[in-house]
Amino acid sequence: MITTLQLRVTPDIAFVASTLRRHVAQELSVEPHEIRALRPKKRSIDARQRTIFVNLTLEVYINENPCTTAYERIDYPDVSKSRSVAVVGAGPAGLFAALRLIELGIRPIVLERGRDVRARKADCARISREHVVDPDSNYAFGEGGAGAYSDGKLYTRSKKRGDVDRILRIFCQHGASTDILADAHPHIGTDRLPAIIEAMREQIKSCGGEVHFLTRVDRLLFSADRSEVLGVGCADGREFHAPVILAIGHSARDTYRYLRAAGVDVEQKGVAMGVRLEHPSCLIDKIQYHNPMGRGKYLPAAEYAFVQQVGGRGVYSFCMCPGGYVVPAATADEQLVVNGMSPSSRGGKWSNSGMVVETRPEDLDGELKPFLDEAMNDDSFAALHADIDDRGNPLRMMYLQEAIERAAWIQGGRSQCAPAQRMADFVNGRLSADLPRTSYAPGVIASPLHFWIPRFIGSRLREGFAVFGRRSRGFLTNEAVLIAAETRTSAPLRITRTTDTLRHIRLSGLYPCGEGAGYAGGIVSAAMDGERCAEAVAAALAEK
Ligand SMILES: Cc1cc2nc3c(=O)[nH]c(=O)nc-3n(C[C@H](O)[C@H](O)[C@H](O)COP(=O)(O)OP(=O)(O)OC[C@H]3O[C@@H](n4cnc5c(N)ncnc54)[C@H](O)[C@@H]3O)c2cc1C
Repeated sequence: MITTLQLRVTPDIAFVASTLRRHVAQELSVEPHEIRALRPKKRSIDARQRTIFVNLTLEVYINENPCTTAYERIDYPDVSKSRSVAVVGAGPAGLFAALRLIELGIRPIVLERGRDVRARKADCARISREHVVDPDSNYAFGEGGAGAYSDGKLYTRSKKRGDVDRILRIFCQHGASTDILADAHPHIGTDRLPAIIEAMREQIKSCGGEVHFLTRVDRLLFSADRSEVLGVGCADGREFHAPVILAIGHSARDTYRYLRAAGVDVEQKGVAMGVRLEHPSCLIDKIQYHNPMGRGKYLPAAEYAFVQQVGGRGVYSFCMCPGGYVVPAATADEQLVVNGMSPSSRGGKWSNSGMVVETRPEDLDGELKPFLDEAMNDDSFAALHADIDDRGNPLRMMYLQEAIERAAWIQGGRSQCAPAQRMADFVNGRLSADLPRTSYAPGVIASPLHFWIPRFIGSRLREGFAVFGRRSRGFLTNEAVLIAAETRTSAPLRITRTTDTLRHIRLSGLYPCGEGAGYAGGIVSAAMDGERCAEAVAAALAEK
């Protein structure tokens, strides 16, 4: 017999298999040995009160063996003789687009500017060790995209846009733990993601698709009347003639510049920016689990989420990484960008999150203008200046990102050493006399962030932190440190689609996709968008 059971139990029961089995047996009035398997269907932690509970939905197999897989697997066909589609970028959007194309009987040719996911690891390590950024292989570029060396958090708020469970099942089919199918806040961890990405690549290749690394697309191939995209050209001279799914992520600034110059429609879009905030993880555990002893033996490292409106703009925590690391996420020299990731265990000594302020294009002509005017006094900003002042320029928000990243790089001593300030010092407008140890491997340097971060962002962060500190006692503390700058929370523009459903694309043969197109944010939503683009291109090919 298979039965479904809903439980609300304490963590010592929920997270110890033998205890949970005994508890379930008691609940169902059967002997523990009669339970052949317990399959979690849903699992969430309720930490709102002093006593922490775990809400569980379990599938219980009594005197019956479970079927071997917890989910339905996709049977990918051989597409080696099928029509091809070029997929630019091997991030979540590109990889899921490629897999979906195969399902639909189309042969993907994946073109990725960076190196394969293992080789890429060495390039990321060099940023920390030697402060050298390879513009094609770093925390954003390379196989797996920005999703590879990330936290691998797999929850999204954009559930309306597609089937989240389907994306999770595909991750499982390529090696992820089936826990992600049950957890309310599923995550994979940076240590486990590379093997999953490799399995996806091997799946694509074994079905007859192609995957090319170190292949940077630098142009589109247009029809004579420029109404249609017929393929792409690469920096090494090769050309691929096929419809194009463009899944380049939010950091491909050279490609953005090219697209605008080539006359592809792009439009301005707001992007949230700020800093990474890092606390000792034991402190976050104590606060979030309301327990001076911390999380104890059974609970995972605690998460938090804050949001507050300040001065008409949202101030919020972003991409929280419990037990994680702050990483250098620049994609070129003379930039300083930080982000966060965590391993599957989430067992690190620190917990971090982006703390960011929503900015909109119109802010460039308002409160952000003094920062930009000041920044432009530096000769090296001169080229940006005219563009930022040009209200019609759709790349303006990208230039703002560049200006803040460059300011952070200068403040950090023109290296990947990041400018940092203790949290309470920042709120009180004081330079930190010293800094606590941090997880940021390239190193940190004390800097008056309150002074040089654009006032528009800094003043809202200060007010936001004061509110968060009142909501969670102990959160606003000098044990925590702010590390600058967090600027890549989403794409700074949108590559226009006529409709969000992709039924009508703007330029025939070109399918802007994923986070880089401005239509997704995060691994799961980028993956879902990849699938939708694959379906759109398949529908268009079927009509031809
Ligand atoms: C450190 C870090 C941690 C993160 N943590 C999480 C998390 O826990 N959960 C979450 O949901 N999101 C997280 N994110 C964000 C998430 O990774 C992105 O939202 C997601 O990867 C976007 O997917 P994408 O495929 O659209 O773009 P990307 O992943 O950015 O992939 C784009 C790919 O295109 C390639 N490319 C770019 N230009 C070209 C070109 N001209 N020619 C060929 N190839 C090109 C790039 O090399 C890259 O591989 C994190 C990001 C970072 C940097």
